Amino acid sequence: MKNHSIERREFIKLMGVGAASLGLGNSAPRLIAKTPDGVLVDSPEEYGGFLVEKFTDLNFPYEYDPNALKRMSERSTVFSRNVWDPDRQDRPETSEDLAYINLVEGKGQIPNQTRLDYALMAASWHTANVHGRASYQWELHRGMVRGLGLHELGPWDPADLDMSWEEATLAVKHAALFYGASLAGVAELNPLWLYSDRFSPQKEDRGRAIPVLSEGDRFGQTDEALYIPQSMNRVVALAFEEDFYGIENSPGRLASAAVGDGYSRMAYTAATLAEFIRGLGYRAIPAGNGIGLSIPMAIDAGLGQLGRLGLLITPKYGPRVRLAKVITDMPILPDPRINFGVVEFCEACLLCADDCPSNAITHGLRTWEGKTPSNNPGTLKWYIESEKCYDFNGFSCSNCKRVCPFTKPNNSWLHRIIRKAIEARIGPLNSLMVTLDQASGYGQQLQNREFWGMDGKKCITSRESM
Ligand code: SF4
Ligand code: SF4
Repeated sequence: MKNHSIERREFIKLMGVGAASLGLGNSAPRLIAKTPDGVLVDSPEEYGGFLVEKFTDLNFPYEYDPNALKRMSERSTVFSRNVWDPDRQDRPETSEDLAYINLVEGKGQIPNQTRLDYALMAASWHTANVHGRASYQWELHRGMVRGLGLHELGPWDPADLDMSWEEATLAVKHAALFYGASLAGVAELNPLWLYSDRFSPQKEDRGRAIPVLSEGDRFGQTDEALYIPQSMNRVVALAFEEDFYGIENSPGRLASAAVGDGYSRMAYTAATLAEFIRGLGYRAIPAGNGIGLSIPMAIDAGLGQLGRLGLLITPKYGPRVRLAKVITDMPILPDPRINFGVVEFCEACLLCADDCPSNAITHGLRTWEGKTPSNNPGTLKWYIESEKCYDFNGFSCSNCKRVCPFTKPNNSWLHRIIRKAIEARIGPLNSLMVTLDQASGYGQQLQNREFWGMDGKKCITSRESM
């Protein structure tokens, strides 16, 4: 039988490391209660007003079938299939493309699509598109300072500075936030979340699968395989807040700008954090969407839970985040996984499914397998038909994030009540709160004139402004 008692030392670890997981060491969460599976804590600053259950080691906020779940091939993702899969060729132009054609051909005024919006969108994607591939290199300068290769000093030992590994873990997360992450957490790397092979992006080579292997201590990339040694068994999961008002503009160019801005920050932060870890004498692989599945790694690192819309939902920003990660052999300490009632709330709330223009999100129950070749079976969840999502309009749609009650800032009585309902895990009340949330007007599309302050009001574009 499971022993539900929590030792004092374990409790302190859950509280302390978890608080630091978001870089808020001086405002530790408040203990509310012990639960059968961990502790219930409260931190308006760290968790945006939610009560959050922090699990002890053996508990997951999701279920997977170890006999059915296999490592996914990167070739199965919709982005890869768009390149090599005959079934994904000759797609109709996305509405994003069509809107652009309409704009440049001057075919009338299209809501939320002006040259101002397009300029913001294009610039947002710039760093990701121009420097993204270089950022995700496995080996860069390796901590060079005035010609000194810091890695040549060997692996750093925190004891040299009278630091514990808990404090060293905090330092790594601190660096992640310093370089621009909104949230950072650490997980033991589950090899099931690594892609089984990498999709070759070379045009002349399209469709070729490059296996991802673990063979002893071999580390590196060749044309034939990627080698990730088993000693690289930690992952730093990174989340980047997307601009609230940009997302509220969905479907539109400003929503795409918010997404592109996230992609660009992912590239910068993952690259620099990896270089920081290399400077401490450890190996580091920075990645955006590549190498493996970011969402389960982020869940394992205690950043949030999976929602009906197929994305990570974090307590503080909801699904309004992009994800990146750094895989390393630095022995930093994993964070506890968390539960704040997302599954129960999503069962009652269908807003994202109702507002999805491509019907990519199911109104049904969670299942063990999906409907398309881009779904990887073996996890109990709501599977998304990602082809439908992609084909609707590329990156300009974020309707599911726009309407999700978790996206909203914690600035109204209504959302505080929703959060209380989540805390109480009361299903029928959840449904009522969703109805009230809609009635309050939240989730309506924000027009670009409001975004830019053309209505004479103060410009409201600002991350963390609410
Ligand atoms: S981004 Fe748009 S099309 Fe894609 S799942 Fe969300 S609501 Fe549907
Ligand atoms: S909109 Fe509702 S159902 Fe969809 S992810 Fe958000 S809370 Fe869950």
